[in-house]
Amino acid sequence: MSVTVEAVRDALAKVRSPKGAPLPDAGVLSEIVVNDGKVFLSINVEAADAKAWESVREQADAAVKAIPGVSSAMIALTAERKGGVEPAPSPRRQGVPSAASHRPAQAPHGSPMAKQAPIPGIAAIIAVASGKGGVGKSTTALNLALGLRDLGLRVGVLDADIYGPSMPKLTGIREKPELTDAKRMIPISRFGLAIMSIGFLVEEETPMIWRGPMVMSAITQMLREVEWGTLDVLVVDMPPGTGDAQLTLAQQVPLQGAVIVSTPQDLALIDARRGLAMFTRVNVPVLGIVENMSYFQCPHCGTRSDIFGHGGARHEAERLGVPFLGEIPLHMDIRATSDSGTPLVESVPDGAHAAIYRAIGGRIRERLQGTPPTS
Ligand code: ADP
Repeated sequence: MSVTVEAVRDALAKVRSPKGAPLPDAGVLSEIVVNDGKVFLSINVEAADAKAWESVREQADAAVKAIPGVSSAMIALTAERKGGVEPAPSPRRQGVPSAASHRPAQAPHGSPMAKQAPIPGIAAIIAVASGKGGVGKSTTALNLALGLRDLGLRVGVLDADIYGPSMPKLTGIREKPELTDAKRMIPISRFGLAIMSIGFLVEEETPMIWRGPMVMSAITQMLREVEWGTLDVLVVDMPPGTGDAQLTLAQQVPLQGAVIVSTPQDLALIDARRGLAMFTRVNVPVLGIVENMSYFQCPHCGTRSDIFGHGGARHEAERLGVPFLGEIPLHMDIRATSDSGTPLVESVPDGAHAAIYRAIGGRIRERLQGTPPTS
């Protein structure tokens, strides 16, 4: 049976706002999108009222899921942040991820993130971002997650690139997440990582059209309505770019820090600077810059050549006073393993490149613990 927007609206009319209005009349609903039995929408409220609305969201969720033919529903509460000047943030206390510490990620007092509820069981959430697409952000995010795993941490990956999810391809995951009795999604477990992607829920060929609040709806649910279990670090693979969607995401996810991936070319660095500015604006500390496709390493003789003017990101990081986390060469093995769904750190764990990802992972861990990297 195909589900209609009207049917969703009718179901939502039975749910009341905190002031008693039927939900569709409360002026808070985003557009309702129904796609093959999956329903997506968000409820947009003032941040100050968010608590009062949580039970409304739960009732809306239950009402929509009860409609015959609905296979899943993503209903998120999104709180628009008011414009205006933020008070100067107090120095951030970094979360200290460790296998022994199960404290949920806590944003520091005084930052906009302080409004974001922590995710129970997750010690630290970090974003991997890039100023533009195609710089190898997703490849880097997944291999860094595996590098962190190799350091003994419990790691999850959230593919937040809802426009072009990469994780199904990079991991070879084809199955759909199962649901718990409480209808929470169970992330797919692969390579010792807990992985979640919108790409696991929709067919690869299904074009997904997302507008403003819908983006956050989908991401909030993938973040909060998933049984992540206990994680030391959740790596969020951000959508590429620095537009509104990325900014909202950076504001609404309780991030401990961000890693910016850049190629050495100038243009990419300009984009990387935008990425930096975006996180600075929302008081998320930039843990550092990674230079990807930094230099070319001949697969036959191992000779290194700096075809892209390597070193740009290190120089730029120094200039901006941001930590430089390391450089990853352009290498066929990295591309081939990504493209075949067997990421390099998993498939060639003893190679030089896996060691690079682990070293960068180590620097990220040190940054999260507040200890400056030694190199
Ligand atoms: P993004 O997430 O920035 O759009 P991807 O991670 O999807 O980028 O990478 C784009 C392409 O570049 C992919 O084909 C990937 O395999 C390749 N790639 C990424 N990093 C490297 C690297 N260091 N060496 C060789 N190929 C790479």
